Amino acid sequence: MITAVMKKIFFAGLIFTSFFVRAQEINIIPQPVSVKQTKSNAFIIVNAGTPIVAEGDDFGKSINFLNDYLDRFYSIKLRTSSTTLGNNVIRLSLSNPFTTVQGGYKLTVDANGISISGDNANSVFYGIQTLIQLLPAPGSSIRLPVPYCEITDYPRFSYRGMHLDCCRHFFSVDFIKQYIDWIALHKMNYFHWHLTDDQGWRIEIKKYPKLTQVGAWRNGTIIGSFPGTGNDSIHYGGFYSQEQIKEIVKYAADRFITVIPEIEMPGHASAALASYPFLGCTKGPYEVQQTWGVFDDVFCAGNDSTYKFLQDVLDEVIALFPSKYIHIGGDECPKTRWKTCPVCQRRMRTEKLKDEHALQSYFIQRIEKYVNSKGRSVIGWDEILEGGLAPNATVMSWRGEQGGIDAAKQNHYVIMTPGDWCYFDHSQSEQEDSLTIGGYIPVDKVYSYEPVPASLNADQAKYILGAQGNLWTEYISNPGKVEYMIFPRMSALSEVLWSQKQNRDWGDFEKRLMVQFKRYDLWNTKYSKAYFELKTSVLPGKDYNGVLWKIENKFNKKMFMTFAGSDSVWGYTGPQLIQKTVRARGYFNLDNRTFEVRQDFNFNKATGKKITLANEPSKNFPGDGPFTLVNGVWNERGITRTSQLLGFLGSDCDATIDLGTMQYISNVTVHTMKDLSSWIWPPKYVEVFVSGDGKNFTSVKSSDDFKITNGKNGVIHVNFLLTNTRYVRVLAKNTGNIPSGYPGAGYESWLFADEIEIN
Ligand SMILES: [Zn+2]
Repeated sequence: MITAVMKKIFFAGLIFTSFFVRAQEINIIPQPVSVKQTKSNAFIIVNAGTPIVAEGDDFGKSINFLNDYLDRFYSIKLRTSSTTLGNNVIRLSLSNPFTTVQGGYKLTVDANGISISGDNANSVFYGIQTLIQLLPAPGSSIRLPVPYCEITDYPRFSYRGMHLDCCRHFFSVDFIKQYIDWIALHKMNYFHWHLTDDQGWRIEIKKYPKLTQVGAWRNGTIIGSFPGTGNDSIHYGGFYSQEQIKEIVKYAADRFITVIPEIEMPGHASAALASYPFLGCTKGPYEVQQTWGVFDDVFCAGNDSTYKFLQDVLDEVIALFPSKYIHIGGDECPKTRWKTCPVCQRRMRTEKLKDEHALQSYFIQRIEKYVNSKGRSVIGWDEILEGGLAPNATVMSWRGEQGGIDAAKQNHYVIMTPGDWCYFDHSQSEQEDSLTIGGYIPVDKVYSYEPVPASLNADQAKYILGAQGNLWTEYISNPGKVEYMIFPRMSALSEVLWSQKQNRDWGDFEKRLMVQFKRYDLWNTKYSKAYFELKTSVLPGKDYNGVLWKIENKFNKKMFMTFAGSDSVWGYTGPQLIQKTVRARGYFNLDNRTFEVRQDFNFNKATGKKITLANEPSKNFPGDGPFTLVNGVWNERGITRTSQLLGFLGSDCDATIDLGTMQYISNVTVHTMKDLSSWIWPPKYVEVFVSGDGKNFTSVKSSDDFKITNGKNGVIHVNFLLTNTRYVRVLAKNTGNIPSGYPGAGYESWLFADEIEIN
C-alpha cells in the first residue's frame, strides 16, 4: 500500500525522471502535415497529477473527450485547472489561423508540458486526437509517456465522411455513438446516416406514426447470399425515436461531427409505401421488403399528396438535424410504375417532361426547392444527374467516379464514394469466409484512392469536397461485423482525406498501421486481420506430377505446414508438392498470434495436367493463366477478383487437356458462376470431345444442365459412356449477347470458369 506521502514522493520522482524515459515511436494516422520527434525523451502524464489547463472557455468538448478516453482505456482521470501549475500540464489554447483550411492545430510536447493550440475549438479537438495517438497502446494506469515532438497539422479535404446503413440491419443508439467515436478518432467530420429504405423506416415521424409502427418492421429476412436459400421468418426491425435522434446529433456535435440524415426518394420506398399505400402508383398493398435489391414500387411522382407527405417528413427531419445537408437519395429508381401510372403520365404532360427520367428530375428539383426554402441543401446519389441536375444539389458519386466528374464540370459540389474504393461492404480478403456482398477492396486499395479525378482541372477540382466510406448492411447484422468491415479500411481512408497528397506513402502507412492494430485491440474492436494474411499461389508441378502450393507472409516469418488429418508439422522451405485431395494448412506466428491459411485441393484426372486454351481470357480476369482450370482449387468463395478464375467476355472457354496417358473417363464437370446482375451468365452448354492423338477429336456429349452449388457458384456436369482417351477438349459455350429484360441487355455476357474436372 502506498501512503499519501509516499505517493507524493513517488510521483515527484516520476516527474523528475521523465527526462530519462525513452519515448515510444510516433505513429499517427492520418499522417499530419509535419511531425518532428525533437528528442528521445518523453513527457509523463500522471494520473490525477497532470491538470488540463484551458486558456478560454471553448475547450469543454476536447477536455471531455480526452478524459473519457483516458478513463476508459487507461483508468486515468485528469482534472482541469484555470492556472498553470509548473510544467506538468496539458495546455489548450487558441492561436491565429495559420492556414486557410479549417482544422489547423499545433501540438508541442517538451519539458514545458503538452501544448495544443488551434485556430478554433474544433481544431484543438483534432489536436486532442493526435495526443491520443501519441499515447502508448496499451499503457499503464499510473503514468503515460508522451514523446517530445512538434506537430503542425491541418486537413486536405473539408468533407471526411463515414456512412452507415441502419435499414437493412438496425443498430442500437449505443452502437451509433460508438461509431461516431471512431469517426472522431480518425479526424473525420461527417456521419451519413441511412435511415429509410425498402427493408425498414428507422426515424420516428410524429405526423405519420405508421412509418415506424408498420414501416420499421419486416416479417423475415432472406437467408444467405441474394437471392437466398430461404427466409428466416423472424419479425425484425427497430427505429430511433426523435429523442434518441436528438441525443445522437448532440453526441456527434460534441465531437465536431455533423450527422447527415438520408431520407430515400423516389426509390427504395417500400417501407413508406407499406405504411401509407396512397404514396404509391398502384396504391398497394405493399410490404416492408424481406430481400435485397431494387424494387419497382416507388413514390408516385404524379400525385401532389406524395410531395405533401415528403415535405411534412422533411419538416420534422430538418427540425431534428442542424446539418446544412439533407441527403434525399435519388438512386436506383425504376420507372416501371410511372410508365403505366395515369397520374404520373398526366404530371409529365402538364410539366412538359419528355420522359420518366425527366419526371425523376422534376421530382428531385421540386424537393430540392422545398429543402432550399428551409435554408438547407440537398445531397443525392449520382443518379440525380439523369434528366438534369437540381440547381444547388451536391452529388455523391457512387457508380464510379464519372458522376462526380460530370457534376464538378457543371460546377456542382461532389462527395466521392466510388464503389471500387469506398464500399466497405465488399470483401477485404481473398480468403473471406464470412458472407459479404462480394467484390474485393483490400486496405491498400482504399489507401491508393485519390478523390480528385485526374481529368478535372484545378478550378473543377475545387468542387470535390472530399470522400466517404459507405457501409451497406445487407450482410452485416451485428456490431462485430461492422467493426470487421470498417477496420482497418476506415483508417486508410482517413489518411486519404486528411493527409496532404505528398505525405501519403503506403510503406510508411503500413508501419503505422501495425501500431493502429494495437489501438484497435485497446478499443476491443473486432477488426479484420486480412492484412496479416498469407498470400498463396498454386503453380504447375514438375512433369505434370501434381501441383505446387506456394505460401508467403509479408513479415519474413518462418512458416509451417500441416495436412488435415495428420499430426505432422514441418517447416516451409519452398512450394509444397500436392498430389492428392487434401486440406493443407500453412501458418506463421507473430506477436504471440498465429495467422494461418487453409486450402482445399480437389484432385481428379485433370489436376496438374497440361492444358491449352483456344481463346485468351479477358485481361481483367486472367487468373493464373490456363493452369487455373486444372490447379485443384475451386473458387468456392464466389469472389470475382481472384486469381482462381478466368473470365471470358463474349468468347468461349475452349480448353484442351492432355491426361498424359490413355485413360478411361466418363464425366467432365465445369465449375462456373451465375450472377446476372453483374452480367455473368453460365455457359450456354458444355461439350466434351476426346482424342487419342490430340489432332482428331470426336464429340462425346454435351449438357446445358447448370446447377447452383453455393451462392453464385455452380457447375455443369457432362456424363457419358466410359471412354478411353488421352486428350479431352472441353468447350464451355458463351451464352452470347445478353437477352432483353436482363441487366446489360444487348451487351456481350461474361463467362467465368474456375476448374475443369475429369473423372
Ligand atoms: Zn404514379
